[in-house]
Amino acid sequence: MYRSLLMAGGNTLYIQDIARTTGCGGLQVDANLIKLYDGACSNASLGVFRHFIIHESGHIISARNPRLYQAYPHSSLSQSDSSCFQYSSCGSNAGYFLKSYALRYYCAAYSSKCVDINARYESFAESISDYLTSTNGYTGALCSVTINNFNSTCSNTFTWLKTNVYGGYTFY
Ligand SMILES: [Zn+2]
Repeated sequence: MYRSLLMAGGNTLYIQDIARTTGCGGLQVDANLIKLYDGACSNASLGVFRHFIIHESGHIISARNPRLYQAYPHSSLSQSDSSCFQYSSCGSNAGYFLKSYALRYYCAAYSSKCVDINARYESFAESISDYLTSTNGYTGALCSVTINNFNSTCSNTFTWLKTNVYGGYTFY
């Protein structure tokens, strides 16, 4: 199911390099384009880089499957799995981020400035990555907080993903 959601629409998915020598991560541009940069990825951060790649694929899934993304129950999951989310506010933005995600609206480790992102959009993509990478915990950069045993710690989010994204497969 993950594969068919990722491929929905039948368009080619492009992966482009960002020419920069700092940082280790990626970003999603639109439904057909992911950009990655690995100039400062070390062996120790390959797990982080893998997490980024899957996270960006989650954005592609939301962009290519808008009805699935609309159905993602972010506000109720942030309450029922409250230990998995962190509240953040900055300016007029306020919301709950799945806490393994590297950024918040306000993240002191990221220049202490307001960041223009969307808590629901980022938490959806992050959960798709956590489903695969947080068996024994995943710790990313900046404001990322480790979630151990995502399947039991964030059981409601896990169950939603299992049903709606991963077709019943749990992988571990
Ligand atoms: Zn993202």
